[in-house]
Amino acid sequence: MLNYTPDGDLAPRDVVARSIVAEMERTESSRVYLDITHMPANIVSARFPQIYSFCLEHGLDITSSMIPVVPAAHYMMGGVKTNYWGETNISGLFASGEVACTGVHGANRLASNSLLEVLVFSKRIIERTRAATNTTNTANRNAHVLPERNRNEVRNQGPTLISLQSLLWENVGIVRSGKKLSEATNILAAWEKDLKRPTDRPSYEISNMVLVGRLMAEAALMREESRGAHYRIDFTEPSDEWLKHIAFRRRC
Ligand SMILES: Cc1cc2nc3c(=O)[nH]c(=O)nc-3n(C[C@H](O)[C@H](O)[C@H](O)COP(=O)(O)OP(=O)(O)OC[C@H]3O[C@@H](n4cnc5c(N)ncnc54)[C@H](O)[C@@H]3O)c2cc1C
Repeated sequence: MLNYTPDGDLAPRDVVARSIVAEMERTESSRVYLDITHMPANIVSARFPQIYSFCLEHGLDITSSMIPVVPAAHYMMGGVKTNYWGETNISGLFASGEVACTGVHGANRLASNSLLEVLVFSKRIIERTRAATNTTNTANRNAHVLPERNRNEVRNQGPTLISLQSLLWENVGIVRSGKKLSEATNILAAWEKDLKRPTDRPSYEISNMVLVGRLMAEAALMREESRGAHYRIDFTEPSDEWLKHIAFRRRC
């Protein structure tokens, strides 16, 4: 990490994730390695019992071998817009946890705040529902409607969980660009068009995931800056113009 930033291992998560991607590209490798072998074996197994036994079950002794890792999303900033009581702008509909956008996180979640968030907001929602107060969270008048897209974008595969994950990883992942984001919005819009009316849990889930993927891609395309976990190679710096949230609403 010291080759990438003076903060070394203590750099923010997004910086570490981008450094790992850069290192994987530089070495043409599908992973990097964490090395904890300098610590005494008994301390490693006592301090990290779960990861130690998980790796051992898979034939890897982390006290003597390095751990292969790749960067992954650990939290989704944004989500269903709520107020500080977990209320959405639909009366009676609440959101708490990672699915919600309460406004307490910035562009890069700080460590351990998400578990705290689940506790605080779930407790508040229970209090609010017990009090049976009407919702106070009004619709966001500045919300955007999803733009029309070229829905004829061709992709060999349809929207499956695997193809959706792969599209989002490749085009809406750790390092983004306007070109890739624009391609993703078109493909997601075409998939939306192709999806049949959902009838069961798997079809509802894929339909919801395509929609959430599109909301993320559209917002990332619109946000012409880099901030926190949102990093664009065509706009590498934060911009004061974008010191705000982006909200979408359904077309009326
Ligand atoms: C690698 C990693 C490391 C992390 N480290 C930390 C950390 O150190 N500290 C921290 O605070 N946070 C951390 N987080 C984030 C934290 O784990 C999550 O933000 C938190 O668990 C979110 O809780 P949740 O209850 O909102 O959602 P989840 O824990 O995702 O719970 C959602 C539940 O809904 C279920 N579900 C999904 N779809 C349906 C459906 N259709 N019907 C019924 N059930 C459904 C799922 O099975 C799941 O059980 C980490 C996350 C990751 C991925």
